[in-house]
Amino acid sequence: MEDRIVRISAIATFCLMLVVCALFFYLPDLHKYEDKVRQQYLKEAALRDNIRRLDELSGLELLQYNNDYPSRTGEEESEFSQQLRLVVPEGVSAEDIEIENNIMHRTLTITFPGATEDYMYRYPMLGRPDHILDLNYECVDDTGRLEIVLDGAYEYLREDDGEYFYLDFVKPHEKYDYILVIDAGHGGKASGALREEVLEKNLNLGMVLELKKILDERKSDSLGVYYTRTEDVNPTLEERVALANDTEADLFISIHNDAAKRQEDKASGTTVLYQGEKGEAYDAKALAEIFSEAVTETVGSENRGAVVADDLYIIRHSDVPVLLIEVGFMSNPKELKNLNTSEYQHLAAEGIYKGILRAYAASE
Ligand SMILES: [Zn+2]
Repeated sequence: MEDRIVRISAIATFCLMLVVCALFFYLPDLHKYEDKVRQQYLKEAALRDNIRRLDELSGLELLQYNNDYPSRTGEEESEFSQQLRLVVPEGVSAEDIEIENNIMHRTLTITFPGATEDYMYRYPMLGRPDHILDLNYECVDDTGRLEIVLDGAYEYLREDDGEYFYLDFVKPHEKYDYILVIDAGHGGKASGALREEVLEKNLNLGMVLELKKILDERKSDSLGVYYTRTEDVNPTLEERVALANDTEADLFISIHNDAAKRQEDKASGTTVLYQGEKGEAYDAKALAEIFSEAVTETVGSENRGAVVADDLYIIRHSDVPVLLIEVGFMSNPKELKNLNTSEYQHLAAEGIYKGILRAYAASE
């Protein structure tokens, strides 16, 4: 009987040892299991933290981050030669994505209809930050707007492949052969001359808007036209000249209307002001005469010819060929009546357009 008890306890002890051994054998795996759970936890925490941190990044920093960690974009290495690659969001077609280049404010705005708040995180953009000062994204009424602030006057080139669209920023002359900058004098609080309740700024803008209509209809793709203003605002003189200088315009035309200081002065007609000293390099006088002839023969005003005006700010500071056209005299009652009609403003625009064609032909 005792023997049997001893045998049973021996077997039991042996079995127990086997179980302990087996436990020891599996123990490292238990560690491994713990490790896996811990790592998964850490990964998720990092992801959460990361997203929290990504949220705090500026648009430019986010672009840099995407470039540094391309795996976030779901690919190890992405190859494209253009400067920027943006993703066409799901459910949006590339043709619906619009780009507006406000070169006067050096700002390009991309509009994505149907985009969401998290567009920048869900669809990382990649590329070089060259020329970009700032990137701002906002979503209002299911429309995403990405604003890109540039460090100079650039045109953009766009390519689409359905999944992505690509942008390159180039100098305007890489896109256009001939560049024209049109300036409507004064604006906003600066009304210019005032006669019989007519404000010069409105006459100037009226003529520029007529000219814009003509150019929008008839201009070729090789001609780039920029406007310092197309509404009742008053950019500074520095900003106006900077647009012409930075775009390296072939011709900068500022449109004004004159007024004699003394009321009894019955002066009337068209004068074209030009650069004296700087203008020798491109025969500014001949250029000014092209315009005084083109305008006066079209509107039927008196041709007062070309006049040097190096003391005027935009003429003095322009590094490109510049003309300031005084279309008519607001101090002359008869001429003021004409100037204030849309027919006359349209004719003045036709005359300036004729001058542009002749100046362009002469430049070739
Ligand atoms: Zn003026």
